[in-house]
Amino acid sequence: MIRPAFAFAALALFPPYAFAGPSACSCKHLESLQQEVENSRYEALFFAEMAERFTEIRRHFEEANKDPTNPDAGVNWANRLGVMHEQMMAQDFHLPNPRVSGYIGPDKVDMPFGTCEQKSEDLTKLKDGSSCAEIGDITLAHEAAHRAQCVAMGKDAYWARSWDEIAAEEAARYADQAKAMENLLKSVIDKGTLTVEAVLTPTYSAQGFSAGYSHTISKMELNGHSSDAPDWALNGKGKQVSKLEHLRIVGMSCTPSGQLDHDVDMTAKTDGFKLTLGGEMKYVSGQIKIKCKKGGGMSAFEPGEVGAGSYFTDAPFRPEMSFVRDASTMDFAQILKGGGISVSGEERVTVKLECPGE
Ligand SMILES: [Zn+2]
Repeated sequence: MIRPAFAFAALALFPPYAFAGPSACSCKHLESLQQEVENSRYEALFFAEMAERFTEIRRHFEEANKDPTNPDAGVNWANRLGVMHEQMMAQDFHLPNPRVSGYIGPDKVDMPFGTCEQKSEDLTKLKDGSSCAEIGDITLAHEAAHRAQCVAMGKDAYWARSWDEIAAEEAARYADQAKAMENLLKSVIDKGTLTVEAVLTPTYSAQGFSAGYSHTISKMELNGHSSDAPDWALNGKGKQVSKLEHLRIVGMSCTPSGQLDHDVDMTAKTDGFKLTLGGEMKYVSGQIKIKCKKGGGMSAFEPGEVGAGSYFTDAPFRPEMSFVRDASTMDFAQILKGGGISVSGEERVTVKLECPGE
């Protein structure tokens, strides 16, 4: 396990007896889990590449050693790999998230040279310093797998391994860890409830005329379940209510009433890191009426389809997301502009991942 060194400072402020241990992972820990997955994936790849490179070097020198006249014969390749390992860790190893949100454990847990053991107090710190309980279980499983391999090989053979073999083992440990963290990330999202609410308030203006509408999608739930696939969809059905909030026509005094009701089909797509939200509107019922004092009744200005096909694309998935769009930049506004009607106002979309028990 490689962890940032400054975590030690935080640990000093919280003596071990102050811990009741971290709470169970829930969607509150979404960001920590995203960071753990990104870090483990990075580490799995980093060590796999290191192992591949070191294996090539080892093979090169083993081959050279078969021929004493080869200038590379007799080189201490094991030492050379040790130096390269140290250099790569110092210069090339850059975790995507050096500080995982909420982590206050040690930066690594040692296994003293020549043994297959780790100090239980170090392991307790690793577990208790985790952002949430199951993250601690996964990192402990990583360490337990090292010890198990050491015991299985025998401690002498384990510590006699060359750096290509050590890197290959680390790559395997982090590949397992990445998979476990990914499953945990998916499970906390599955246990949460994704909700969406939106309001669009465009005002249509032309010479001597102004109409302000509101299109409100009340809070709705989106449901779906992750699988082994990298991304999945969450779907929900809701309602949009549209009203004409104000109407101004030069020389008239008008009062709008009534509403339009639409069914909304919303789909969110996610891979646990990014979220894309799209929706479809279907007219159900209702109409908007206008009474004007001078000139009698008149039919409403019908804005037509204003619903967004796509609300946002590939936004970072957070427990709470809020998006505000200028209505004048939306597709329908562009079309109306061509007909001499300008659109102002905004759209606000709020997406929340609500955790159970909150
Ligand atoms: Zn390890």
